[in-house]
Amino acid sequence: MQAEIKAENKKPETKRKFDVVIIGAGPAGYTAAIYTSRAKRDTLVISGILPGGQLMLTTEVENYPGFATGIMGPELMTTMRQQTERMGATIIDDEVVNVDFKRKPFKVLTHSEEYEANAVIIATGASPRKLGAKGEIEFSAKGVSYCATCDGPFFKNQEIVVAGGGDSAMEEAIFLTKFAKNVHVVHRKDKLRASKIMQDRAFENSKIKFHWNSIIEEIKGKEKVNQITIKNTSNSQQETMDVGGLFVAIGHEPNTKLFQGQVELDTQGYIALKNHTHTSVEGVFAAGDVHDHRYRQAITAAGFGCMAAIDVDRYLSENSRKN
Ligand code: NDP
Repeated sequence: MQAEIKAENKKPETKRKFDVVIIGAGPAGYTAAIYTSRAKRDTLVISGILPGGQLMLTTEVENYPGFATGIMGPELMTTMRQQTERMGATIIDDEVVNVDFKRKPFKVLTHSEEYEANAVIIATGASPRKLGAKGEIEFSAKGVSYCATCDGPFFKNQEIVVAGGGDSAMEEAIFLTKFAKNVHVVHRKDKLRASKIMQDRAFENSKIKFHWNSIIEEIKGKEKVNQITIKNTSNSQQETMDVGGLFVAIGHEPNTKLFQGQVELDTQGYIALKNHTHTSVEGVFAAGDVHDHRYRQAITAAGFGCMAAIDVDRYLSENSRKN
């Protein structure tokens, strides 16, 4: 299915000016494009280096409504892309390297072209921080996961490791006890960063074991993870545990580097929303994990995409009445 899409995209693209340019092609970007295209707004989606976003790195998605028996993450994103194209949006597989939101029309520069837009939706998402442990990349989606809500139910009755000591790690560890035999929290310090209430809940849960002052050295397995070696940094002792999986919950990095100095970011570097999906620049909107560090789900990102598209349509209508 992917090959088909690539072939279609080989057609020469000559158009440079669009009503809406959407930067990013995860659930937020595609949903926004479906809505703006259906509203007859000339729409360009610039997909970035990972068309489809984080779901391209997952396996089965069981919690996206509409798929009674679940759907594979890459298949869901391929289908969203086809739906976006059917609605008439143009999609290009290129990376945005610069933007100019200081004057209108806005400018969006890729490796190969410069585009102009009357409105922009930023939907570049966020990336989970990586541990940098040996085997982490190799076993990604093969036992190494960055989302307990997404993948937890696949680890029934298994020993699971959660890396991190913040609220996310505690939330994931507690959630995972619904499925796992035991959850081993491996944290690099001797105390948690998580809020008191989350700490208390985790300490009270008899299925959660803590490994303090410990780092994950190596993730091993055959087709899937089956062992993790941790090292206690206070006494240098190593321990190898037989486990079914590792959930890395050490924070996320919003993909906002491009937008520094262009739109207002919050203290954690996420896009700061001003009024619904509007950013600090009139005509520039944001949708999905790039501004949302609370929910981070495919369905919430898609919802935000829909909201941004409706806001864009209203903004463009109001603007055309003014001019
Ligand atoms: P945080 O930045 O709060 O915590 C990250 C954790 O990962 C810290 O314990 C940190 O260790 C550890 N860590 C970071 N880098 C590494 C590394 N390279 N190797 C090993 N460990 C590492 O991120 P969260 O995602 O937990 O939370 C983000 C924000 O969202 C916070 O404000 C949080 O309060 C909020 N949140 C709230 C929730 C709730 O209230 N229910 C749920 C989830 C998130 P160290 O402590 O040593 O720095």
